[in-house]
Amino acid sequence: MEQVDCIVIGAGVVGLACARALARAGREVIVLEAESAFGTATSARNSEVIHAGLYYPTGSLRASLCVRGKQLLYAFCERYQVAHQRCGKLLVACDEAEVARLAAVDAQARANGVTDLQLLSRAQALVLEPALDCRAALLSPSTGIVDSHGLMLALLGDAEAHGAMLALCSPVQSGTVTAEGIELQIGGDTASRLRARTVINAAGLQACQVAAGMAGFPAARVPTPHYAQGAYFSLSGKAPFSHLIYPVPGESSHLGVHLTLDLGGQARFGPSFRWIDAVDYQVDPADGAGFAEAVRRYWPGLPDDALQPGYAGVRPKISGPGQPAADFRIDGPTEHGVAGLVQLYGIESPGLTAALAIAERVQGLV
Ligand SMILES: Cc1cc2nc3c(=O)[nH]c(=O)nc-3n(C[C@H](O)[C@H](O)[C@H](O)COP(=O)(O)OP(=O)(O)OC[C@H]3O[C@@H](n4cnc5c(N)ncnc54)[C@H](O)[C@@H]3O)c2cc1C
Repeated sequence: MEQVDCIVIGAGVVGLACARALARAGREVIVLEAESAFGTATSARNSEVIHAGLYYPTGSLRASLCVRGKQLLYAFCERYQVAHQRCGKLLVACDEAEVARLAAVDAQARANGVTDLQLLSRAQALVLEPALDCRAALLSPSTGIVDSHGLMLALLGDAEAHGAMLALCSPVQSGTVTAEGIELQIGGDTASRLRARTVINAAGLQACQVAAGMAGFPAARVPTPHYAQGAYFSLSGKAPFSHLIYPVPGESSHLGVHLTLDLGGQARFGPSFRWIDAVDYQVDPADGAGFAEAVRRYWPGLPDDALQPGYAGVRPKISGPGQPAADFRIDGPTEHGVAGLVQLYGIESPGLTAALAIAERVQGLV
């Protein structure tokens, strides 16, 4: 059986960032991707927002890796000329109860090390965004947007420049933990087997299934996967906003139907939140009315029939309905006892922002 040093399973933004970090550290790396192109799953179906790290519980991986990842990501984008924009976001409070919650968001952000938020009165917010309706707002200047495909292309390019190889159409079907390393059975047209000293499971929506398919891996250490669809509606015509606009989040971990802009200035609204039993990217056009109602709370001028069904992504969750939101899980040998193996579970938002920081952490584990 062919022996390699490191295998990364999955060529999404997280797998590519891990491959790059390992290749730059001088390791031999092969990335195995099930699909015929890299980055076609969750990394291509998100809001492309560089999150500041405002809401996540202090001390959680989501908080610390978001804040660190944001710094690394802006620096990476500048160095590798990945299209991005530090456009800032307004978190808008539309009633008195929400105004009161802005202070809690500011306190949470400070505890997470994000100290640049500015509380704006209604008048100050309207100077920045005249089409907005709100009672008050928090401005997050370090929030931005990034071309996620361009980012992945740059990560792959740098990984390959340091010797990494990407194998497309190479789904990992099963594995076996052995004393010599981890053996992987790879499907596709040219089925093969590889043994690696280091394996990073960055299979996103399939990460739990990939881990469960490894003979010799402790089954009790594999979380149950859950899926939640997030759908987007796009705006026909130009948006009268230059900042991202977010409602104040409710009790759930869902950030609410927000307005994000792409780098061409085109607006989309979303993502919604719906538990689903299996991965499903269909957007239900009937949801448009609910989107319009949510958007009109902060943009009363949304024209009738201006929202078109867009695309959907699926959150790779490891906590189910009614359970508290789970943190990212980056399980290394200390957690599961298998040398050289890192399992990445539940890498939902802010995984795009945090990818470079996740890679830094993974590299430290192997
Ligand atoms: C609706 C939505 C909005 C979001 N918005 C944001 C945002 O604005 N900002 C932000 O920071 N984050 C956001 N996120 C989170 C972010 O998109 C993800 O955290 C990130 O893309 C995860 O990347 P990944 O590489 O772990 O997974 P993926 O991109 O899913 O990549 C996993 C890869 O593994 C491959 N694979 C699966 N099984 C196998 C197998 N058996 N063998 C080989 N390959 C396999 C898949 O084909 C895929 O290419 C959002 C997520 C969602 C769902």
